Amino acid sequence: MLIPARMSEAEEQRWVTVMLDKLAAQESRRTLGDTELAERARRLSDQYLGGRARPVSVRWVTNQNTRWGSCTPSEGSIRLSHRLQGMPEYVVDYVLCHELAHLLVPGHGPRFWRLLEAYPRTERARGYLEGVVAAERLPHVPGAHGA
Ligand SMILES: [Zn+2]
Repeated sequence: MLIPARMSEAEEQRWVTVMLDKLAAQESRRTLGDTELAERARRLSDQYLGGRARPVSVRWVTNQNTRWGSCTPSEGSIRLSHRLQGMPEYVVDYVLCHELAHLLVPGHGPRFWRLLEAYPRTERARGYLEGVVAAERLPHVPGAHGA
């Protein structure tokens, strides 16, 4: 990694952190193509839903801004919002599990949530997504990001 000259140690540390964050974000975007996404859905179904949810297609979509994911049980198709790209893996996995569970149970009744209890990070992932939505509603504060 090339570090610009004349940086103080604190600046250097901050710069390295920023670069590592950028790399991590690129990494998650690069590694999760539609093929990997389908593979991941299959693994999650095997692990948490007894392999009963068998989606025909799983893909990213960019036209979904109010929902994180959606599915069409009659077609066996699952779509995830591109806004999830770059979020932690456990959050993407939760949304996948959620849509996989909808292939088995429509709606959000007790039976649905009982299915999702198998995925250990359901509560944490829901909290993360609620936090994202709440943060988006905050007014933009100029200067808050140091620029
Ligand atoms: Zn749902």
